[in-house]
Amino acid sequence: MRQSGTNLPKVGRYNRAVVMDQIQLADGISRVEIAEHTGLTPQTVSGIVRRLLDEGIVWEDGASRASHGGKPRTTLRLNPDAGRAIGLHFDPVELTCALVDLLGRPLAVRKRPTPSGTDPSHVVAAMTELVAEVRASAGVPHEEVLGLGLATPGPIDLEQGVIVTPPQLAHWSRVPVRRMLSDATGLPVTLDNDATAAAVGERWSGAGKGVANFAYFFFGTGIGGGLILNHQVYRGGSFNAGEFGHSAVLPDGPECYCGNRGCLERLINPSAIVTEVHRRLAARSGGSVLSQAFGQDPASVDHAAVQRAAADGDPVAAAVIDEAAQHVASVAVSVANFIDVDLIVLGGHGIHHVESRYVEAVAAALATRPLSRNIRVTEVEASLLGTDAAVVGAAALVLHATYSPQLSALLAD
Ligand SMILES: [Zn+2]
Repeated sequence: MRQSGTNLPKVGRYNRAVVMDQIQLADGISRVEIAEHTGLTPQTVSGIVRRLLDEGIVWEDGASRASHGGKPRTTLRLNPDAGRAIGLHFDPVELTCALVDLLGRPLAVRKRPTPSGTDPSHVVAAMTELVAEVRASAGVPHEEVLGLGLATPGPIDLEQGVIVTPPQLAHWSRVPVRRMLSDATGLPVTLDNDATAAAVGERWSGAGKGVANFAYFFFGTGIGGGLILNHQVYRGGSFNAGEFGHSAVLPDGPECYCGNRGCLERLINPSAIVTEVHRRLAARSGGSVLSQAFGQDPASVDHAAVQRAAADGDPVAAAVIDEAAQHVASVAVSVANFIDVDLIVLGGHGIHHVESRYVEAVAAALATRPLSRNIRVTEVEASLLGTDAAVVGAAALVLHATYSPQLSALLAD
């Protein structure tokens, strides 16, 4: 068995990242508080902070605040302008690109349809144009961009930077997208699956900020998951952990492309939800505001129309969404039982307009069904990043890789 050790320069870099993480997660923090939270000596914290100030990554707040009537303490904050990153969300239907500041706030966002052709190089060309457009519209020079983060559907081979035959992308078989995109844009590219990227974004600037253990359910064209455990991104042995969408919720349910039966994703992906609403409208079960539109043109009752109708309380659409939310709740209970997370975050464009229906169903299940509920109830929240979760997360991949304390960085190569 090989196990890596560490050495002093790596410890120094790690401590610097730990200090920066404290500054990033807090809305203003003093040197004393950093030392208290991290267990580092005040001298070590002061030395690291001095270098971060010299490099312009951190600011000292002019306003000092007194603590318990004692000596005023200077507050430290991240300088939002100290770094820029670009995120790209590769969805089979749409490409979204955002340029964010060091706080993860989008300065410019652009979208375009994903080219439908068979050649991955056409998609990479479209991505490259979109990156240039976003950079130009934000007015940020190329050399000020730390890197490009790409969030893609899984499965991926993270070590090789390769997308491995994703289910909704015919013709994508082991495409070396990281190298192609890096060659085309001249930027270093960080790749991850869309759900992990969204979880990293939520850790950087969303509902998961400062939460030690949380699971992220990402609702896109499919349903993915991301895990942050003990403040670290958990990727698993082949970098494909957290496939909550392939948890079987109906043992004899329909076969899924993964080889399993009755998977969550198979039952509640956007097209499955639309199919079920169409079936009920065709059977004329219950009055629905969608009935007339369905009679004139069934295609007009698409996923967005179903979500909007459900949000407005339409009985047919709401019933289908609430049944979907019950399936999500069952998987959330399993995640709470298996991993004992503090928080479950629900996000992605797939639950746009109906986030609260999903949150309510999952909250009710988490309060009554996990074994650990009498010790503390796992919380659930909708993503603060909304429909931009994956693209902001993609950009946060770069910030996270550059600035967050990662145990892997401690280990000798
Ligand atoms: Zn499956």
